[in-house]
Amino acid sequence: MFRKILIANRGEIACRVIDTARRMGVATVAVYSDADAGARHVALADEAVPIGGPAPKDSYLRGDAIIAAARATGAQAIHPGYGFLSENPDFVDAVQAAGLVFIGPSGDAIRAMGLKDAAKALMAQAGVPVVPGYHGDNQDPEHLAGAADAIGYPVLIKAVAGGGGKGMRRVDHPRDFADALASAQGEARTAFGNPTVLIEKYVEKPRHIEVQVFGDGTRALHLFERDCSLQRRHQKVIEEAPAPGMTDAMRAAMGQAAVRAAEAIGYSGAGTVEFIVDASEGLRPDRFWFMEMNTRLQVEHPVTEAITGIDLVEWQLRVAAGEALPARQEDLEIRGHAFEARLYAEDVPAGFLPATGTLSHLRFPNGIRADTGVRAGDTISPWYDPMIAKVITHGPTRAVALASLARALEETEVAGSVTNLDFLGALARHPGFAAGDVDTGLIARDLDALVGAGGPPPAAVALGVLAAAGLHEGQGAGFTLWSALRREVPFDRPAAVRVHAPDRITVDLEGASHDCQLRPDGWWVDGIKTGARFALSGPDITVFLRGAHRFTRPDPLARQAEVAGGGLTLAPMPGLVKAVFVTAGQAVAAGDRLVILEAMKMEHTMTAARDGVVAEVLVEAGSQVEAGAALIRLEDEE
Ligand code: ADP
Ligand code: ADP
Ligand code: MG
Repeated sequence: MFRKILIANRGEIACRVIDTARRMGVATVAVYSDADAGARHVALADEAVPIGGPAPKDSYLRGDAIIAAARATGAQAIHPGYGFLSENPDFVDAVQAAGLVFIGPSGDAIRAMGLKDAAKALMAQAGVPVVPGYHGDNQDPEHLAGAADAIGYPVLIKAVAGGGGKGMRRVDHPRDFADALASAQGEARTAFGNPTVLIEKYVEKPRHIEVQVFGDGTRALHLFERDCSLQRRHQKVIEEAPAPGMTDAMRAAMGQAAVRAAEAIGYSGAGTVEFIVDASEGLRPDRFWFMEMNTRLQVEHPVTEAITGIDLVEWQLRVAAGEALPARQEDLEIRGHAFEARLYAEDVPAGFLPATGTLSHLRFPNGIRADTGVRAGDTISPWYDPMIAKVITHGPTRAVALASLARALEETEVAGSVTNLDFLGALARHPGFAAGDVDTGLIARDLDALVGAGGPPPAAVALGVLAAAGLHEGQGAGFTLWSALRREVPFDRPAAVRVHAPDRITVDLEGASHDCQLRPDGWWVDGIKTGARFALSGPDITVFLRGAHRFTRPDPLARQAEVAGGGLTLAPMPGLVKAVFVTAGQAVAAGDRLVILEAMKMEHTMTAARDGVVAEVLVEAGSQVEAGAALIRLEDEE
């Protein structure tokens, strides 16, 4: 076994790898960017080496600096995590050329799966079913349109270099093909520097089912499947294992296909073979097709660990250190069911915009696995993926594991940033999902109900008012008898309190009165024990009561963001300016494209709110901007 390894990553995955290494007695070296000097992964590692500026290209993507850090610290191997350099074959070659071990597959295995068209051709040769379609070299639009006709609509246009759901367009009618092709190629060119696309049959009632594989460079085995059909814009939201409704015959067929795929490229280490499944008539062994292989540890690997009892990172280290595969296929079995929910700092009602913020409070329920890269007090910066944690539950049955997930999400306490907790909670309680009736369109079909879910319960609002009045800890002792008089409380809606005693307060809210009593076990509202907890930070009040409910104390000094009048286009979230379409002096019409902002694998086009003339361009392509940054100033045409 290695004495010391370096983790070429950050966030939750770096922390997760460090945990296992520590348990195995392996010393760890973290690398970090200037933005991460105080990050959790740096604190957890035995040693840490700064490698450059906050932008990934200046730090986590600098293979040379990372290899130098490994040499300087005497690390023998490099774990790449996921993202960043994990699927970069040239990095793998450089690591090996430096006499170090790359904890993962060979550069050539990564190359073989790097482009979706070549990977599909290779898999078809190896006898793995692939999605019917055209993945040839001829990129002439006429030719591709002909291929789409031959395949039959609906079709999916996919960037061969794609990832993260980018460069993908579903087309339902031939008349829309040319436009969809142009936009998919454009997105692929910007995102991957490669406009080549393939055309696939769009599978009906699609389910995303993937198989975890593990190889030693010659032989491979599989650790069953995960279902990742709960997606938004082709990105995974909640994953589970095993797949609901899976039959033994289908599992055996998929497992064998995945093992064939891995062995065909001499795969070493942990990998995932992703399949698209036509579930229009249930799960059938002749209705699954290879989509792509991810040649790394996957974000959702913990659900597989939960049902198999295997630590995949331990296996990665052992096989990379030269051990044989740690188990035989027949030794592996599925125990129970597991779910993982991806908790993000993002504003769901605003359209899932990535958010930033300092987490003034962060607490996960006891007894639940939460993989996280942050602690209370840490900041979700604009530079990286705004993931806060992965919440993972395991139970003897799917129903128990799902109920446990719903409860774990309710009991997860985050303050200091908006999050997708409510959205995840609504998904965990979705009746179709609970019935196992999943497909990749579920979230989009029910989006309004999932996003609009609820609003805070009246008891949470009443307790928010108490906190706004400074009375939530019962320290109302300063209130003398006169305070029993009604007192208005500055809050985000009209509210007042009547203090009868420090532990007995009435809150008047929107026509209703709530009787709040502080007892030894916390606040009771209208005669019911709430178990509520509070986090206060500046103007933000968060009440944790079956979910996190955020309120804002109006700050009389708050700067009125009356920007619309100033003709400014502001960044709605932190991100990277990908393109600027206008120059100063240019006339624009309402709706014209001004800027493309990229955040969290998505591109957002900022358009002109009205007709006018560009007075100032305040950013350039390539700049990183904070939320609220001014991008373009328009003025009226005289
Ligand atoms: P997985 O397929 O493992 O579930 P995803 O599909 O969510 O992972 O993401 C695909 C890859 O994109 C992962 O390697 C992940 O690290 C990476 N990734 C996630 N968020 C970002 C981001 N904001 N910018 C760049 N890469 C990202
Ligand atoms: P990426 O590299 O971006 O992860 P994938 O090829 O894995 O691209 O596809 C991402 C998602 O797009 C899948 O999880 C699935 O939801 C959807 N998808 C891909 N191919 C098809 C298809 N042929 N039919 C229907 N949906 C598909
Ligand atoms: Mg994929």
